[in-house]
Amino acid sequence: MQGNLWGIFFDLEEDCQLVLRRRPRIVSNQLLNIREWPEDGDWQNVDMDKVVFWVQAHGLSTPYLNWENAPTIANKIGDYLDTDRASRLEAFRRGYLKIKVNIVVSHHLPAWFFLKIAIGRKEWIQFKHNKLPMVCYNCGRIAHDFKNCMQPKAFVYSLIGKVVPMNGPWIKSEVPM
Ligand SMILES: [Zn+2]
Repeated sequence: MQGNLWGIFFDLEEDCQLVLRRRPRIVSNQLLNIREWPEDGDWQNVDMDKVVFWVQAHGLSTPYLNWENAPTIANKIGDYLDTDRASRLEAFRRGYLKIKVNIVVSHHLPAWFFLKIAIGRKEWIQFKHNKLPMVCYNCGRIAHDFKNCMQPKAFVYSLIGKVVPMNGPWIKSEVPM
């Protein structure tokens, strides 16, 4: 259609829904950004700078492990779309919320944030992304390789005051904390 943009058509609606559900797609370590065809057919105006990701939010204490909190947490990293609507028991058992978000691909991937739960009390919430393509552990962007990264390495202060790199393999859901 235009540059790196393709229109993909399906005979069956269910095939289309399956492909949309399984986003994002990684092909040869590159991100294939799949967006819904706009109802008005105006594909030139689809925002291809945003990508749908499933993200895990770790570090929430038990009262917050509730999918009703998902929109608030999702807003820290992008636009909230949905959750897997796991029961409280299931969320407690696995220890995280699973949230579907629209993330701006050219920004660095949000790896964590502090959730204020009471005056003077904060919780360190760590995000882990499902099916992440090649990601730059220097600056946390997915659009380039760290060998070509001109950005300074990003660091954060942890709860115990230690300086730690912001990004690393742990931002992938397949890698343990
Ligand atoms: Zn980088």
